[in-house]
Order: sequence, then structure tokens, then C-alpha cells
Amino acid sequence: MEAMSRKLVWVKGRNFEGWACAECAWAFKPSGLVRGNSIEEMKVDYERQRDKEFASHVCADHPRGGKNPL
Ligand SMILES: [Zn+2]
Repeated sequence: MEAMSRKLVWVKGRNFEGWACAECAWAFKPSGLVRGNSIEEMKVDYERQRDKEFASHVCADHPRGGKNPL
């Protein structure tokens, strides 16, 4: 895995706004509920989910092209 060479970037597109991979078409879509008792806790949980999914995705599985949500 070349996890270190990938970059998480904030993307603002017509149909999507959020975190995405700079190397492929992967984009973070929060899977349901963000847990936490405060905005701060929710933010931490959101970032944990995001970082975990980003770290585990495989760029080759998300080629840029037809299905790009941007
Ligand atoms: Zn990627």
C-alpha cells in the first residue's frame, strides 16, 4: 500500500462537497450517524471515520472517469 503518497483534499463540485482522494475518484460519504454529545465530539468522530475510510480505500478501485461524482 502506498498510503503515504495519497492526499486527502477538500473538494467542491456541482454535486459533491466534501473530502476526496487527490489520486482517484474516491470521496468520503459519511455512513449514517456521526456519534458524539457535542459538536466537538461529532467532529472528532467524523474525522476518525473519514481517516479510516481514506486509509482503507484502494485507489485502483476508484478510477477517475464515468462514475466520478464531481
Ligand atoms: Zn484514492
